[in-house]
Amino acid sequence: MPLFTKFEKLARDRTALLSSGIDPFGAPIEQIFSPTEALINGQRIILAGTNNYLGLSFAPECLRAAHEALDREGTGTTGSRMANGSFSGHRALERELAEFYGVRSCIVFTTGYQANLGMISGLTGPGDVLMIDADCHASIYDGCKLSGADVIRFRHNDAADLRKRLKRLGERVSSTLIIVEGIYSMLGDRAPLADIVAAKEELGGYLLVDEAHSLGVLGTTGRGLVEETNVGERVDFVVGTFSKSLVGIGGYCVSNLPELDLVRYVSRPYVFTASPSPSVIASTRAALKLVRDGKPLREKLWRSARRMYQRLAELGYQLGPEPSPVIAVTVDTREQALAFWYGLFEHGIYVNLVFPPAAPGDKSLVRCSVSAAHTDEQIDRICAAFATLKPMLASANAT
Ligand code: PMP
Repeated sequence: MPLFTKFEKLARDRTALLSSGIDPFGAPIEQIFSPTEALINGQRIILAGTNNYLGLSFAPECLRAAHEALDREGTGTTGSRMANGSFSGHRALERELAEFYGVRSCIVFTTGYQANLGMISGLTGPGDVLMIDADCHASIYDGCKLSGADVIRFRHNDAADLRKRLKRLGERVSSTLIIVEGIYSMLGDRAPLADIVAAKEELGGYLLVDEAHSLGVLGTTGRGLVEETNVGERVDFVVGTFSKSLVGIGGYCVSNLPELDLVRYVSRPYVFTASPSPSVIASTRAALKLVRDGKPLREKLWRSARRMYQRLAELGYQLGPEPSPVIAVTVDTREQALAFWYGLFEHGIYVNLVFPPAAPGDKSLVRCSVSAAHTDEQIDRICAAFATLKPMLASANAT
């Protein structure tokens, strides 16, 4: 098949998508006013799909740290961590993240995506086993491909299914890495972490938890589901990202295992890419302190998240199984989801549109994320738009 034949359907779909004048997949933000407000397509919009859970993207501490680092160290490192791209700030952030989790060591990567790619392909290879929750993020799936290990999926959030599959592995369990997420990115539900840890301890294997959406959101000091469930010491690797609660860009893995440091030498997504810019590292270090001390922000976040989840549930929307700052409405067809997304946009609300396969199952999602920076009035306006638009999904999405 000629190279571009496979793009023909995509091109047709895209033309249809753009006929309404604004691209739901990448509409440029023309001006950003605050963590919750921006100008898009000439319209002042409430941002309700940013993953900016604690609303820290304009925190003066982060801005100041970034400005100072920019002036002191320049715009970029121009190199890999393994060559000229390890600055003292990268090492300091690694120490601070390790301290935050109370573990021996940490590796900082250039994005959260690369943290998963780098850890999974660094730890496992052909002959090893990756046992992953079926709803894991694309970066975990891509890490599995890069690794070349055998991939076994267990049913989403089903520790009994995980147990069954671990038992079948026999001796291979010693070279098995189990992977789950803290809060799942699409439906906002949490892993049954205590049960998963118990299965690992009884049957074997190593456990990696991706806390991309739970860092800053769960736990007294914001360490995520490992803190909330009090199983931190029993999890082998925690991966996270700087791009959500930490409001920068980058990723990390922390672990108590002494071998973690060796992964640097074998992980291609660590070795063959440039390291995060000094200003990003500096703002992330400042944000980490705000996350750690951010209990009041977490309380505010959860109050708003529960209120919005409850309101949307009362309206009859089909939501994820539990209240969470990630609130996704499941919609049967792409066309309905697209029309609904435009409807929200016309009401001045920006959310995420998710088509399969990025959404679990073959449904589409209109995905919101709540921020501690949302005012009560903004949450009310978001809920009011959902109330007005409910008839659009009335027949297809009745509960
Ligand atoms: N893991 C999960 C669960 C995610 O949802 C994401 C991004 N949405 C990533 C990893 C990748 O993070 P980043 O955007 O920092 O590359």
